[in-house]
Amino acid sequence: MRNLAVTEYWFITGSQHLYGEKTLRQVAEHSRVIVDGLNASGLPSKLILQPVLTGPEAIRDLLERASGDARCAGVIAWMHTFSPAKMWIGGLRRLTKPLLHLHTQFNRELPWSSIDMDFMNLNQSAHGDREFGHLITRLRHPREVVVGHWQNPAVVSQIESWIRVADAWHDWQGARFARFGDNMRSVAVTEGDKVAAEIRFGFSVDGYGIGDLVQRVNAVSETEIDRLVEEYTDLYTITPSLQRNGPQHASLRDAARQELGIRAFLQEGNFKGFTTTFEDLHGLKQLPGLAAQRLMAEGYGFGAEGDWKSAALLRAIKVIAGGKQTSFMEDYTYDLPLGDELVLGSHMLEICPSIARDRPALSIHPLGIGGREDPPRLVFDASTGPATNATLIDLGTRFRLLVNEVDVIPPQKPLPRLPVARATWKCRPEFSTACEAWIHAGGSHHTILSQAVNRRQLASFADIAGIEAVFIDAQTSIAAFRQELRTNEIYYHLASGFGAN
Ligand code: MN
Repeated sequence: MRNLAVTEYWFITGSQHLYGEKTLRQVAEHSRVIVDGLNASGLPSKLILQPVLTGPEAIRDLLERASGDARCAGVIAWMHTFSPAKMWIGGLRRLTKPLLHLHTQFNRELPWSSIDMDFMNLNQSAHGDREFGHLITRLRHPREVVVGHWQNPAVVSQIESWIRVADAWHDWQGARFARFGDNMRSVAVTEGDKVAAEIRFGFSVDGYGIGDLVQRVNAVSETEIDRLVEEYTDLYTITPSLQRNGPQHASLRDAARQELGIRAFLQEGNFKGFTTTFEDLHGLKQLPGLAAQRLMAEGYGFGAEGDWKSAALLRAIKVIAGGKQTSFMEDYTYDLPLGDELVLGSHMLEICPSIARDRPALSIHPLGIGGREDPPRLVFDASTGPATNATLIDLGTRFRLLVNEVDVIPPQKPLPRLPVARATWKCRPEFSTACEAWIHAGGSHHTILSQAVNRRQLASFADIAGIEAVFIDAQTSIAAFRQELRTNEIYYHLASGFGAN
């Protein structure tokens, strides 16, 4: 993943003075063992053990420092003993980093034959964590709750999943997305309030004239292009006409020049993603297709037709996915045999090869739209299996994350004349309910398809952002879904009050 910071997570344990020094030393030792154990389990970020907290001043001080610490991307809290939660009010009110409440217990089993009141006094998370959870609920503070013994593989995996979500949130804070040109003219869903997005999500979207990019593309050296074309040869099956000495080799070199120019622009400006639009290509020889595909595969966010929300969401989901199997996507066309309906998803060019099933083919074909030279592109079928198809939309007063759980399947027949990368999928619960629900929810035609994140992670990400998340899944019924949208409309309207968005 390009431009991704190394993060740390602070592990904090709550207690109080009542128990005496000896017990508190045991609490601290148990926390150390848990943190060492979790760190040895291969989490994506390091947990940093913090001192046991027993009073409001220390709690406030620690959570303020966590909020201001550049490497700290979140806090994991556990109440080993009973920690009266009024002590936590001041600190939690100041906490700006994502919070995971780990409801665990140091010992896995009760020592049935030896258990006494000393043991009972030390191992109180069963009620201590309830007291803590009550206050977080009362404060309406967003948090994830993970329950179970800390050595359970499912618990470790949920902590790992959440760390990736919190990493994605951390990554958005202060992130910049470059928008080359504006929106595709007259399109509604790709538009939105960029100021509201920056207030809510922490990233900014900065517009650039296409001339700024053209200048950088033109500055790329022939040697750099030679090197990149070599890389293409290693990674892809290149169609003969694009190969060295082939009649269209110059087009491949132009594509490589674009890729190098855009990457340099993004690196020099510290951007995490970008958008293009085929309506503004002045000075570019071709629509950047191969460049968008390869930059996505490196972890950059991308949105076509000026779709900055998709660019930002793609970046976030790629961080959650650890860079794997996640692409910009568009519901393109349907196959509608009765009872066996499916979606053919694709785009003009820009599908990320991280979802490719096999080695991609690198070929060149005419592109009717945009009025430029024929662009080389990677062509492949997507890997099959369950996936999430997500979109972020601006409802004018707030944002909504909409997700359909889908199953990517092999194309039903070969597609010898389709010169773009594609995925075919079945919607859950089935085609007509999924599409009806999607349209009622105002979902975009642009989505982020991922085979490496799960629903809980997306819900958790929306919680941290304080936005609505709605899911169309195997259980969705239209009546209940429409009622959920209406209920959420009220909740999110009231919850945001007179806030900016
Ligand atoms: Mn599109």
